[in-house]
Amino acid sequence: MILFLINYLFNCTIGIVIFVEILPVKKQVQLYKNKLESLQRKHPWVFSGAIDLASEDLKDGDVVEVLDYKSNFIAVGHFQNATIAVRILSFEREEINQQFFDKKIKNAVELRRKLNLFRADNNTVRLVHGEGDGLPGLIVDYYNKVAVIQCHSLGMYNSVELIVEGLKNALKEDVVAIYNKSSDTVSSKVNANDQYVWGSVETPHVALENGVKFNIDWVNGQKTGFFIDQRENRALLGKYANGKTILNTFCYSGGFSLLALKNGAELVHSLDSSAKAIQLTDDNIALNQFENHQSIVADAVDYLKELPEQYDIIVLDPPAFAKHRDKRHKAVQGYKRLNANAIRQIKPGGILFTFSCSQVIDKQLFTNTIIAAAIEVGRSVRIIEQLHQPADHPISAYHPEGEYLKGLVLAID
Ligand code: SAH
Repeated sequence: MILFLINYLFNCTIGIVIFVEILPVKKQVQLYKNKLESLQRKHPWVFSGAIDLASEDLKDGDVVEVLDYKSNFIAVGHFQNATIAVRILSFEREEINQQFFDKKIKNAVELRRKLNLFRADNNTVRLVHGEGDGLPGLIVDYYNKVAVIQCHSLGMYNSVELIVEGLKNALKEDVVAIYNKSSDTVSSKVNANDQYVWGSVETPHVALENGVKFNIDWVNGQKTGFFIDQRENRALLGKYANGKTILNTFCYSGGFSLLALKNGAELVHSLDSSAKAIQLTDDNIALNQFENHQSIVADAVDYLKELPEQYDIIVLDPPAFAKHRDKRHKAVQGYKRLNANAIRQIKPGGILFTFSCSQVIDKQLFTNTIIAAAIEVGRSVRIIEQLHQPADHPISAYHPEGEYLKGLVLAID
């Protein structure tokens, strides 16, 4: 009997120890009463001003539970001492572990498979698009069996091992190397090194976009090495390009130029202010053995003031002129001037592809800006296509801020 009792107590103790081990005390933030509304709409950000109380030992990158003012669980996310203080990972009470990342990454990859983006003639795909894939702070781009991770939060940066396993589990034999390029996007406090986190390949690495070869260099290039977000818009340019003369400004590695040449453009000029970008363009032209192409290193804004020749088609794809709301007005003036110059000088019957990737300038403001430019010039201008980011850059219905790329195709008489 005594032995039984001792045994019983022993088991209970073990039970308690195990219980404590699998349920460690969670770090928490508690919100003010009147700061719940956006989370009730499942918006995935908690701003710092919404937080009333926080666990004392809370530090950047921690997984944190978000509680309402009555201490009810609302969500779990990554904490960072910044304007966006918590990026929500789940509105369910779940562990942010391997299983979580496996589930999210598998779901993201399945969407891209449904979109038929892994094909014999295409293997450049955005695999994970932050909030659009339920993984705020994480971008993963994929180039012919290589995944390039870009973390925008410390929580994601600290989770890289889980992300790597998640990618390997979802992609299986379709991935041979994974590179982490987060030094520009994660807090400088962590001293992040850009490096292979699994396998390695030589760069530049050749990948395919709609049948065109591109040298991709995530080590030395901008962002993850390539602007995948213009894939469908470049394909659309291809439909207009046959027999045309084209000026592609802000060309980076020449994406629009190459798709135009592949589709029979008569002559393409690619322009960028970065000599490095122009080198990438020239290398891509050589890689595809295209002719009828010339590169120009110049400031596009200056160059467009007075074009030395006329073109049938002009592409304007500038970098974000405004990264914050307070720069919006100045950015609008910049877009207006740039577009007015292109509208003024394009050939009669010309086609203008014009874009903005500034998140703070929405579709309507961009359209109004282009209309203002048309009115200023006074030519007949018709909007014939309205463009946006592609399906592998999805926008969560609960996070409309995820929409950033917009474009118009104008027919100018
Ligand atoms: N259209 C490209 C992506 C453009 S990214 C593609 O399809 O891949 C923006 C590019 O604009 C970068 O290459 C950058 O070097 C270039 N750039 C930035 N400011 C510029 C300026 N004032 N004049 C010309 N190019 C500029």
